[in-house]
Amino acid sequence: MPIDSKHPETLALHAGWRSDPATGAVAPPIYQTTSYQFRDTEHAANLFALKELGNIYTRIGNPTTSILEERLAALEGGVAALALASGQAASAFALQNLARAGDNVVASTDLYGGTWNLFANTLKDQGLEVRFVDPSDPENFRRATDDRTRAYYAETLPNPKLTVFPIAEVAAIGREYGIPLIADNTAAPLLVKPLEHGAAIVVYSTTKYIGGHGTSIGGAIIDGGNFDWEKFPERQPALNTPDASYHGAVWVEAVKPLGPVAYIIKARTTLLRDLGAAVSPFNAFLTLQGIETLPLRLERHVSNAQAVADFLSKRAEVTKVIHPSRQSGAERERADKYLKGKYGALVGFELAGGLEAGRRFIDALKLFYHVANIGDARSLAIHPATTTHSQLSPEAQLATGVTPGYVRLAIGIEHIDDILADLDAALKAAA
Ligand code: PLP
Repeated sequence: MPIDSKHPETLALHAGWRSDPATGAVAPPIYQTTSYQFRDTEHAANLFALKELGNIYTRIGNPTTSILEERLAALEGGVAALALASGQAASAFALQNLARAGDNVVASTDLYGGTWNLFANTLKDQGLEVRFVDPSDPENFRRATDDRTRAYYAETLPNPKLTVFPIAEVAAIGREYGIPLIADNTAAPLLVKPLEHGAAIVVYSTTKYIGGHGTSIGGAIIDGGNFDWEKFPERQPALNTPDASYHGAVWVEAVKPLGPVAYIIKARTTLLRDLGAAVSPFNAFLTLQGIETLPLRLERHVSNAQAVADFLSKRAEVTKVIHPSRQSGAERERADKYLKGKYGALVGFELAGGLEAGRRFIDALKLFYHVANIGDARSLAIHPATTTHSQLSPEAQLATGVTPGYVRLAIGIEHIDDILADLDAALKAAA
């Protein structure tokens, strides 16, 4: 029985699952199986022909994973989701599902370094061009658009710049041309709902806040079901022309009886089938367990991060605090429009002492973990110039907002006094 609620606190616990019909088990079972017995040959044929939805093989779908998918779609206000092995797989698939060799995508410059590398190098090698534009002027997306532009891509609360993306403004430009906005909402789940502002697709690294405990790499794509692919057949050929990889299916037609899910079904039945970035059922279970407390955890993450931003702003060792509450002008207006005072749990800052001070600060931390991750319940820190961003060109480092003295904190849910004490000691050591 689907739960009739719009409240994330309730959906996080109930969406997609009630209890196991066979045993009554309340916690979602881990269906640790590769394959599924077909009832008979007709059943098997129907499943492969998409006449009936059901389990075939865990690379393409799994009952534990599908609970996760339903829960993510419900929390996001989308119609369906596809869970994947990592956030990287989710951002790659989100683009590859629409853009082929010779096509292009216009993306914000304000991206996680791994996404930048994927777009600037790996997808480029495959013939898919990603054009990076400065999102502070939404019109830059229009300027970079041509007949082969298939999607716009952005992070809502970009890691590590933390300048909120103009979601509604860019989504509206795209909709004039039949171009969907794909929004990576990894840093701000529940805090902003990109679909409500006109985005068509949402991407997550569930590795972060959604899983929330630093146990499981995972990703997801959520289909908003709010984009009229059929209205733009020339702009979106991948969904509007026969797909040789699925016996000539025209996705917008073939999937119509199932609802406005052409985009996400195609991603599952072609990209996931062929490239195989399937999440393990065990990771799907751990992610589901993380989601149960996501709304509650976020409250503490957000209030602790605000306290850290306030604390850092008063420190002489710090030349700049990067947090939406410290922004002004158009940046701040956007932060308030989309985040409404809940500015997420990431805090960046620049140390007066530059690169070496950054190293000393990190080495002096005792409570914070020094790791390449965000969104763990524990507090985390990293010095991007010597780690995550060291493989990027100096121009790309600057474009993504990373300076030599930049330190990124992902504030956890520990007691705030312990967090501030650790920062205080490390700042003194860095000076
Ligand atoms: N998107 C954002 C905003 C991220 O921060 C990350 C990882 O740090 C990713 C995508 C990639 O996710 P994953 O590490 O799960 O592949």
